[in-house]
Amino acid sequence: MDEVYQSYLDLEEKIREYDPDLNASRLRSAYEYARQMHGNQKRKDGSAYITHPIASAEITAEMGLDEDAIVACLLHDCIEDTKATYEDISKRFGSTVADIVEGVTKLTRVTYTSKEEEQVENLRKMLIAMAKDIRVILIKIADRLHNMRTMNYQSAEKQREKARETMEVYAPIAHRLGMQKIKWELEDLALIYLDPLGYSELSAKLEMRMKSLEGFMTSIQRKISSRMDEYGIKAAVFGRIKHIYSIYRKMYSQHRDFNEVFDICAFRVIVDDIADCYNVLGHIHDLFKPLPGKFKDYISTPKANNYQSIHTTVIGTEGIPFEVQIRTREMHHTAEYGIAAHWKYKEGLTSKTAGEEKFAWIRTLLETQQDTDAQDFVQALKIDLFGDEVFVFTPQGDVINLPAGATPIDFAYAIHSAVGNRMTGAKVNGKLVTIDTALSNGDVVEILTSGASKGPSRDWMSIAKSSEARGKIKQWFKKERREENIIHGKASFEAEMKRNNLRLSDPDMDDLLPVILKKLSFSSLDDMYAAIGYGGLTSVRAVNRVREELIRVKKQDREKIQTDKLASAAPAARSTRPIRGIMVEGLDNCLIKFSRCCTPVPGDSVVGFITRGYGVSVHRKTCQNYKNARARGEDEGRWINVSWGDTAGETYETSLKVLSRDRGGLVLDLATALSAAKVKINSLSARDLGNGNALAYVSVNVKDLEELSALISRLEVLSGVTSVLRSGAET
Ligand code: MN
Repeated sequence: MDEVYQSYLDLEEKIREYDPDLNASRLRSAYEYARQMHGNQKRKDGSAYITHPIASAEITAEMGLDEDAIVACLLHDCIEDTKATYEDISKRFGSTVADIVEGVTKLTRVTYTSKEEEQVENLRKMLIAMAKDIRVILIKIADRLHNMRTMNYQSAEKQREKARETMEVYAPIAHRLGMQKIKWELEDLALIYLDPLGYSELSAKLEMRMKSLEGFMTSIQRKISSRMDEYGIKAAVFGRIKHIYSIYRKMYSQHRDFNEVFDICAFRVIVDDIADCYNVLGHIHDLFKPLPGKFKDYISTPKANNYQSIHTTVIGTEGIPFEVQIRTREMHHTAEYGIAAHWKYKEGLTSKTAGEEKFAWIRTLLETQQDTDAQDFVQALKIDLFGDEVFVFTPQGDVINLPAGATPIDFAYAIHSAVGNRMTGAKVNGKLVTIDTALSNGDVVEILTSGASKGPSRDWMSIAKSSEARGKIKQWFKKERREENIIHGKASFEAEMKRNNLRLSDPDMDDLLPVILKKLSFSSLDDMYAAIGYGGLTSVRAVNRVREELIRVKKQDREKIQTDKLASAAPAARSTRPIRGIMVEGLDNCLIKFSRCCTPVPGDSVVGFITRGYGVSVHRKTCQNYKNARARGEDEGRWINVSWGDTAGETYETSLKVLSRDRGGLVLDLATALSAAKVKINSLSARDLGNGNALAYVSVNVKDLEELSALISRLEVLSGVTSVLRSGAET
């Protein structure tokens, strides 16, 4: 008889043992379909490919999975490796089976490269989340177990790769799902390829030790069994050597030699009910001396993966310590097959419950656990059940964890705000997508960036799902965009001024602007420009304010001041002494102020401007505003000659612009240099120009031009400084 067919029949028989209602013709047609689809495909060892899905299905039958799961397991490689499609499988075996097969296919496509622990943990969670249906994971584990059992014909590289993935991803998943038996086998199989020498050495030593332990183990087993009989307790007693990897790990983590690892024997006592568990415990402690601190009661406090058992370590007659595990039959089955066991016990064999309800028991199971050790994993399973998170890959294979419905925008900002701010587009699984595309578990997401990107757009805020991304976008608008807002705001403001036949360079503006800024509640002209650029203030409204103010001062002008008779404008009562070192031609005692645009100091050649309502404003003759006004030939009569008088004891506020390479500590160095020059600092600030340069504004008080020139020389030699300019000067 056909060997393959025989193994199929064995499978069918195995399922019948626990599922008398098995639809055998459906199972058979799944087997026949898979066999036909895989056709002449061969495994690495030369056997027909179909042997693999059958063997995997046998493992899922050992787990006690339901018919849909086993049918799906027979078909698990069909979508990936044959011409079969989702639609085809769905039509033949129903959408549940097709969904499971597709789920397994997706997991198969996830590529794994060794990562740091946090990344691996994310990967495990992602696999669970991707699975959606827990049966997908169980089939994947069965698939992996069979592949590991038959790994010897693979290339050495493939062996190591798969072994590492098994050790770091699948064995821990099996552990978290409580599938102890499979976890142990996976670990031992992986160790063969991860440390071949260590494995063979250890297994040789174990075999030797086992011979010497044989008599010991038999005598212990007899001792326990006869005590059970004596007291009429129905119990099965098993002795075993612990699995190789657990001994291996103990040797390495505790830096012990094999001969120093004593507790390699373990016994299990399986009884009918919980009361008997505690009964047996009493007898064991009566027979052997218990080791203090080694008793653990996982019956009253189960592990997170639902493991239940009593553990105690005792010392045998020959002074050899050994562990005894006491549990009920059902607990034992759960310990071996974990969640899969619950599938069988709790779900029943013919359950037709809907998807959501189907997972309710897992949820309850996990939520009632006390052990905090695996809480992250519990969280991950909840994610699976409630779908509030999504796991995606970077092109480098890192797993990024995002809220459900997250878009490439969220992804980009999760990588780094600089990536988000420069994003121009995105690719998902190699295809260009719109940036509002919702990401799915397992997607590989690549963000396209450009240094020329204008930054995030305002509507990204409503597209992004993560508070992280929204926060970073908001931050950007507040800060990064300020420079751009200032430029746009300034251009818009100037255009509007021009339309109204007004000029920012008009000497009157020097006096008007501070008043207007104050009325609009801005502390600087840049703040106003930023607001215009940002859309918080329209340039029309800003310019209207300028016009209103102009009209107001002109009216004041007409009422109070005769421009050609300045004397009347000079408020004698207000100014008895000062004049601040300035002599105005033909006039005494008039109000003097120094223009903000060019901040003159004694020694500068200066000129006066009769303002509307603010006295005489003093400009430098090199001031651009002055030059422009003279060139236009307007208000000629308002410019008058002024000169420096006695300035002793006075200091004058003046400002400088320092252009520098952008570097850390620039402001600090400037402050140090200014202090060293013993000048009074009024303000000091710097901003990044974005082209690797920075611009610092310095406002200081100096006595005269000589002191100012000395100061400029001090600043010019500072590291990184390319030029130091006086404000308002030609550049
Ligand atoms: Mn497979």
